[in-house]
Amino acid sequence: MTVPAAPDDTSLLNALAQGSQALIDAHFWSDGVDRLLEALGQASGASRVWIFQLLEVNDQGVVQDYVFEWAAAPRYRQLHHKRFRFFTSVFDDPVYQQLVNERQRGETQRFVIDDMPPGSLRDNLKSQSIASMVTVPIMVDGQWWGTLGIDDCQRALRWEGAGLNALRVAAELIASAIYRHQLTSRRRQIELFQRVTDCGIWEIDLQRGSTWCSRSLLQRLGYPERYARLPLRRLLHAIAPTDRQRLWQALRADRHAQQHGWRLDVRLYTASGEPCWHELVAEAILDDDGNWQGVAGLAIDISQRKLSEEQALTAAEYDDLTGVLNRRGLGRHLEEAMARSSTHHLLLVDIDHFKQVNDRHGHPAGDALLRLLAQRLAHELRPDDGLARIGGEEFALLVSGMSDGDAGQLAERLRRCIGDSPFQLESASDHHGKVSMTVSLGVARLTRHSDPHHAQALATAQADQALYAAKHAGRNRAVCCWAMPHPLSDRGSG
Ligand code: GH3
Ligand code: MG
Ligand code: MG
Repeated sequence: MTVPAAPDDTSLLNALAQGSQALIDAHFWSDGVDRLLEALGQASGASRVWIFQLLEVNDQGVVQDYVFEWAAAPRYRQLHHKRFRFFTSVFDDPVYQQLVNERQRGETQRFVIDDMPPGSLRDNLKSQSIASMVTVPIMVDGQWWGTLGIDDCQRALRWEGAGLNALRVAAELIASAIYRHQLTSRRRQIELFQRVTDCGIWEIDLQRGSTWCSRSLLQRLGYPERYARLPLRRLLHAIAPTDRQRLWQALRADRHAQQHGWRLDVRLYTASGEPCWHELVAEAILDDDGNWQGVAGLAIDISQRKLSEEQALTAAEYDDLTGVLNRRGLGRHLEEAMARSSTHHLLLVDIDHFKQVNDRHGHPAGDALLRLLAQRLAHELRPDDGLARIGGEEFALLVSGMSDGDAGQLAERLRRCIGDSPFQLESASDHHGKVSMTVSLGVARLTRHSDPHHAQALATAQADQALYAAKHAGRNRAVCCWAMPHPLSDRGSG
């Protein structure tokens, strides 16, 4: 006969308080769960308190594992039973099917075995000598995670009212502990990921204008890592102003980026106050109608990559042998110079009879002389002048802000500074290592032209023509193309 009886509410409340404290204090969440089950069991006078973890629900049945148990006496223990290890319960009984549906919805169940209709569920419970049972689903983040149950093998107990509510609270406490544990491990994973990849994570809620940044990103930007509400304005101001503008332009222009995601290299002001290159990777958070709710993404530190790129670029613009610019470097120098001022002259400098120098002193000595000559030329120049080695023994010089007369005088000065005193070679055996050389120079004015490359090409041709004239006239001289009888002119450019 069924004996309706409710467990003592006050003892259950105390058990909850004890269990809750245990869950908070426990080094590992499962230790806290064990202590909560024990407190519940003792307070309710039950035979067994247990937790099944749900592993899978499919059309045929449910797969569960028996993960926690407290038993009032050794004879009630079932945790070691093989049949509860990753066991599958098939839906061969409509009562059981209904029970699973209810648990999925987060509902509680109470059974007094003698009152149950015949069926496999009743047989199953009877085979465990259960007289009454109550179960509460453990819902983690809205999902059925598992089931907390209390079996009574002696009493046909009907759980209701405050007692049943206490059980629900117990399930909720366990769910919170599991959720907390999941979040902690997730945070550890994210921190590891960030350390390994040198990246920070961020999210912007456009509706509220609020932000979320990972600890590492906050730290990188110079804020305390627990700063929960970094204002959006401050986050945006961490991006260098020119890069911020590029960001808006890119977002306005690119419809795909607006709807999906984008990547952009920007400089972020870090804690040190120094701008540091980061790649922003972002994805739009859209609502069901495709409207922007927010943006979320990563900020990946690419300062090392940028440094290598800059180093490679620099290396690509300088001449290995002499250390002055090469042809490509001169091109970039010209572009920058043309943006700064409007008058420019190009001087071509070619060593006279250098082949003979090589033949007499050897190729290595020729190389050393090329280096010394570059140094001597550079010594005569201003910091903004661009000196480049554009061929074997041929140099080019770009000077800005000079009159034709000044440029002609500079060419003459350079000619003298090379020809007037010999070069001292450390390794040469004859003439105590002294080698004399002369150079010929051709000078041209760069015409104003919208295309710097065209202006450069024309000036190079004109200076080359002047250089040829200098060679033809006997070498060791400078010729300005505007002083020549038939200089090349820019007929095509108007
Ligand atoms: P010109 O007065 O007509 O300019 O006579 P040149 O001998 O200087 O001219 P040419 O163009 O006939 O020969 C250039 C020589 O420069 C050929 C080569 O031996 C030498 N040369 C070119 N590049 C290098 C280099 O990198 N190192 C050395 N040591 N010699 C070079
Ligand atoms: Mg030469
Ligand atoms: Mg030459």
